[in-house]
Amino acid sequence: MDLKGRVVQNLDLKGKRVFIRVDFNVPVSDGRVVDDTRIQKAYKTIDYVLDQGGSAVLASHFKRPKGTGYEKDKSLYPVFQYLQAKYPGIRFAESCVGPATEAQAKALAPGDVLLLENLRFFKQEKANDQAFARDLARLADVYVNDAFGSSHRAHASIYSVPRYTRAKAVGFLIQQECENLSRLLDAGEHPYVAVMGGAKVSTKLSVLENLLKRVDTCLIGGGMAYTFLKLAGHTIGSSLFEPDVQEACRYYLNTYAEKLVLPTDHIAGAEFAENTPPVAVNGPDIADGLMGMDIGPKTLAHYQQVIAQAKTVFWNGPMGVFEFPAFSKGTMAIAHAIADSPAFSVIGGGESGQAVQQAGREADIHFISTGGGASLEFLGGVLLPGLEAILQEEE
Ligand code: AMP
Repeated sequence: MDLKGRVVQNLDLKGKRVFIRVDFNVPVSDGRVVDDTRIQKAYKTIDYVLDQGGSAVLASHFKRPKGTGYEKDKSLYPVFQYLQAKYPGIRFAESCVGPATEAQAKALAPGDVLLLENLRFFKQEKANDQAFARDLARLADVYVNDAFGSSHRAHASIYSVPRYTRAKAVGFLIQQECENLSRLLDAGEHPYVAVMGGAKVSTKLSVLENLLKRVDTCLIGGGMAYTFLKLAGHTIGSSLFEPDVQEACRYYLNTYAEKLVLPTDHIAGAEFAENTPPVAVNGPDIADGLMGMDIGPKTLAHYQQVIAQAKTVFWNGPMGVFEFPAFSKGTMAIAHAIADSPAFSVIGGGESGQAVQQAGREADIHFISTGGGASLEFLGGVLLPGLEAILQEEE
């Protein structure tokens, strides 16, 4: 994707205050950051801004506050405490907007860092309120978006703040996301394999459509397999079925019959519960009273073989209810198969990223996207609002 040179490396940052939209929506427990992956990924852009003689105003959302003001358990203060080790002089603004915050921002000297309190304490953030966006923009001279995982949302800090600053660009994390995800759309080397799973087809229709045009094989697993299986004439017992997407699924089955691969056996259970005993179903049909909850060994062996021969692999969505150990085997084995394969491999964030992490194989994957929803929309052909805002010409 052409970012039109609007990258942080092309900005004049010396002596500038830089509003950096980051994704610090990290797991916090008992007031402590327990997984700092997302924070670590923001350092490259922040450090670059500081090295170039700028100062950084860091802004993020955190969890899902009501949008009516401060909520202690949704404060970014624990992230501020965490960041003190990396940026010893960092300051914290108790509100993301307002005169006190503006004064704090104006006082920043080159090399200084200010973390703003949770953007979503104001409902204006999600509502993309223009006055709120202008208030945020007043804190800085320059805008940099590096929150890929939020860039599919047209929220004020993502979509409108860049309209009101003097210059705008994307940071290193977004550049990396665009580069790797674009490769899947423009130049996937063949054999090119997509592995699609997760709960529902309905949330993944456009990405399926876009990838089916490009891949040689699309291996289907997870809950989404059962709508396809039923339409292909199989019985699915009480497995997930989505009546609303029948037409689209039928179209894919007809148009891409040679590419679309469905499970031929399953691990099922009587109910959707962790302790429900796993039942091996040796063929594609599932009897009444049983629900497909993982791919079976025959399917797995076939999928492993296809993945081993691939030159490009994209994976999104678990092969089963991997949160329940008895139904996690398919997902974990696929994570290992992709890690073992020499193919250019990309994981579309969310649960599949978690599975790779659980398998301890992150280092063996070329790229794990930081945005589940955003990566799917990107691959579905949507120009993300966060990128649109950067690429738009000045008014
Ligand atoms: P998604 O966010 O759409 O990728 O869906 C992820 C969720 O799909 C996980 O929480 C899984 O537990 C769930 N899932 C995977 N396979 C199945 C299945 N066969 N039946 C019900 N849920 C499933």
